Amino acid sequence: MAPFEKWFLSSSKESLENYEAMIGGMTEMIKRHYHELKSPYTHIDVDELSNLVNRSVYFSEHEQPLEDLFDDVQAVVLDHSLHISHPGAMAHLHCPPIIPALAAEVMISALNQSMDSWDQSPAATYIEDQVIDELTKQIGYRSSSSGVFTSGGTQSNYMGLLLARNEYCHAAFSIDVSEEGLPLQAKKLRIFCSEKAHFTVRQSAAQLGLGMNAVVSVKCNERHEMDIENLEEAIREVKAQGNLPFAVVATAGTTDFGSVDPLFEISELAKKEGLWLHADAAYGGALLFSHKYRERLKALERADSITMDFHKWFYQPVSCGAFLLKNSAMFKHIQLHADYLNPEEDEHVHLVDRSIQTTKRFDALKLWLTFRAVGTNEYGKMIDHTIETAKQTAEHLRKQRNITVLNDPYMNAVVFRYVPDTLYVDCQKQQHYENKLNQLIQQHLYEKGTFIMAKTKHKEQAYLKLTMLNPMITVDTVATQLEEVVALGKELEKKEERLRERSVIG
Ligand SMILES: *Cc1c(COP(=O)(O)O)cnc(C)c1O
Repeated sequence: MAPFEKWFLSSSKESLENYEAMIGGMTEMIKRHYHELKSPYTHIDVDELSNLVNRSVYFSEHEQPLEDLFDDVQAVVLDHSLHISHPGAMAHLHCPPIIPALAAEVMISALNQSMDSWDQSPAATYIEDQVIDELTKQIGYRSSSSGVFTSGGTQSNYMGLLLARNEYCHAAFSIDVSEEGLPLQAKKLRIFCSEKAHFTVRQSAAQLGLGMNAVVSVKCNERHEMDIENLEEAIREVKAQGNLPFAVVATAGTTDFGSVDPLFEISELAKKEGLWLHADAAYGGALLFSHKYRERLKALERADSITMDFHKWFYQPVSCGAFLLKNSAMFKHIQLHADYLNPEEDEHVHLVDRSIQTTKRFDALKLWLTFRAVGTNEYGKMIDHTIETAKQTAEHLRKQRNITVLNDPYMNAVVFRYVPDTLYVDCQKQQHYENKLNQLIQQHLYEKGTFIMAKTKHKEQAYLKLTMLNPMITVDTVATQLEEVVALGKELEKKEERLRERSVIG
């Protein structure tokens, strides 16, 4: 046997048996855990958790028996993780991973292809390229478009604004930012997005040397969509101040409300003003495959670049996202050539030419296998089902006495709050009390582990949020879980009341 052979994949019996024992053992453990899984989370006090971790997380000097290792993985990882596949978990834009993609992950890690240069990933490079092609066709982009898989929406939004900035600086000042750095006018550059846009727009501006103040936040209409007249006005103002608008980010699916900015109108205005239009469809991109709501992404193909996140509503394990580009020539702004990797004279496709990452995962395999195994038809039904469930849940909630619902679900998020019976004369006291109650409800339920919701804020008020990505959720099961919210609200109100009485007497 070659040295160390047991620890690497090879043709030897020792290698293959060890692979089977470890991968098979993990799979068995997961199966056993899910067979018995009752709730999404088993709460543990943070001190206790930290002690548990301290006891089992260390580097051992010598080989340890597999059973001991598996016992620790069970006790620390499986027992105290948030089980996102459980239908009671509906906090964030954080999805249950779909089984074909889990199978793909086994292959991705075993083959360990690196997607920077063709010679490190021959089949995988062309597969990623083809999956990108399929996506651009769904969007309605022409063949001159291109794209690349990314680590997620953060990276894709950053890339959109990076290309937009460099293209603008080249066109306006004949400056090649990647060589010369930012022009003197950089302080004047401005980006527009709605007040509900993802924070990574501001984060990107900060990292691109423009500063967060370069992002002009445009007020939304009552449906939480960017108001086109406000955008026009904002552009006018910025120009009147002598500043330089160069990009607008339209969100297709805001994080809290799932609202879609008016893509067509924004694209018209962007064209007129010479702005780069980046569409952040991290969440809403899934509607491309919806049977009922595809038209909500109408005009998406007019965007210069697009963010899509597959580890949100495409049910892919983290990480999996894409950056799509209408005019593939724009990738020139991030291309650098290394003689050992992607020499200029080389004809092969090197995905490093389109990416800000060098070594990069073969995540495209997950999406391909998912759409082959499940089919776009069934997937589209899942998308529609979750929207329907969210709508019905909002309707159900509206009928409850102690609940106000903030939104009419446009995608699958429902934002609502518990409204107490207790009334204070002082408005501010009332608001403070209501906020505290809602925060406590969220926290108590998290600790109980049966029903995991998120919290958010709207106009200084605390809200509870259900993000119903999981297609296994039904209205009936949610309705039962929501009874807990009201019951808990009432219980907390009583507790507060007793405290108040005591303080009055005391
Ligand atoms: C999640 C999200 C992002 C950030 O994506 P990551 O995959 O978390 O990096 C950006 N924009 C929107 C609208 C999102 O929902």
